[in-house]
Amino acid sequence: MSTRRRGSRSAPCPNRSPSVGSAGRSPSSGPISTARWAAPNWPSSPPARSNPPQCHARSPRPAPGRTHAGRPPPTPLRLEVDYAYATPIDAVVQVGDLAPRPLRLSAGRQSLDFGIPLAETARAWSVSITTPDGQRLGTQTLEISPFRPLTIYVLPHSHTDIGYTELQTAIEEKQVNNLLAGMEAARRTASYPEGARFVWNVEVLWAADLFLRRLGPEQREAFLAAVQRGEVALCGLYLNELTGLCRPEELVRLLRFATQLRAETGAPLQSAMISDVPGYTWGTVTALAHAGVKYFSVAPNYFDRIGDILVQWENRPFWWVGPDGHSRVLVWIPFWGYALSHRYGHPLPPARRGFRRQARAARLSL
Ligand SMILES: [Zn+2]
Repeated sequence: MSTRRRGSRSAPCPNRSPSVGSAGRSPSSGPISTARWAAPNWPSSPPARSNPPQCHARSPRPAPGRTHAGRPPPTPLRLEVDYAYATPIDAVVQVGDLAPRPLRLSAGRQSLDFGIPLAETARAWSVSITTPDGQRLGTQTLEISPFRPLTIYVLPHSHTDIGYTELQTAIEEKQVNNLLAGMEAARRTASYPEGARFVWNVEVLWAADLFLRRLGPEQREAFLAAVQRGEVALCGLYLNELTGLCRPEELVRLLRFATQLRAETGAPLQSAMISDVPGYTWGTVTALAHAGVKYFSVAPNYFDRIGDILVQWENRPFWWVGPDGHSRVLVWIPFWGYALSHRYGHPLPPARRGFRRQARAARLSL
């Protein structure tokens, strides 16, 4: 940790050099720099009783909506300088090979934002602060941890749990309104580049059936057209069913509405979701595969009734072969029920920590 000692606030003196620290956090890769710098490396070392300015670097969140036209975005880096003298001075800050930046040092903290090139290996960059005429105030090394690029896919959808959070009639109204809002968002973004257009995902098709039965012909046509254009994506199952209670025919009928809609719209209905139920009977695989579903996203309850399924299979996609020996679907179990999935950057929720402890204890007792 760098320290900031209290001392007499004398006139600024170039020989009283800043100390520099860094504490970085990338929004998508964890800390990029955690080192803290202290004063001793300044070429013109200040006397021990001096009160040097201090400098910290951190990585702020990138501005939302920034696009980079296919190029990797720069890694944001914020350099903060604490200056403890009453009289301001002009300084120049040089970070690595980046263009020098002027900085007015005045009492208190000032910051400079940089965008540094993305790199997947650790780097050590020098940071120097000089006066405009070249007199060095200080220099230090900034350790930058490797940056790991991530591609994030966003699938907006709403969970269907009839009667659990609201009266059934209120849930029906919300699901219909969700679809209308999703279609409207898709219309508003229809001219965006591919990949940036809004797509509303219908988690289970009961909501679509409700929409088609409840609304008028014009809105029904709009819905089917949105499906055809890919603005509304359909998932195969009719409900978040307790499949273990289903007989084989009932498993097949869970996909019946999906195959009807596919025939009507020509939409490529290849995926299914099931959320907030603790398990899926084996015959579900055969029923899904026979309906043309290839991908199965499941989000079991995370707190109980699930054995060690998350310990074994969380975020480990696998091909699940049905009891007939050849039907199969690619299963992905993200963490959390409701397919809330990856809470990147958030601390582990207590429930998850508790689950982990239970799972470890269970394994130890075997
Ligand atoms: Zn639910």
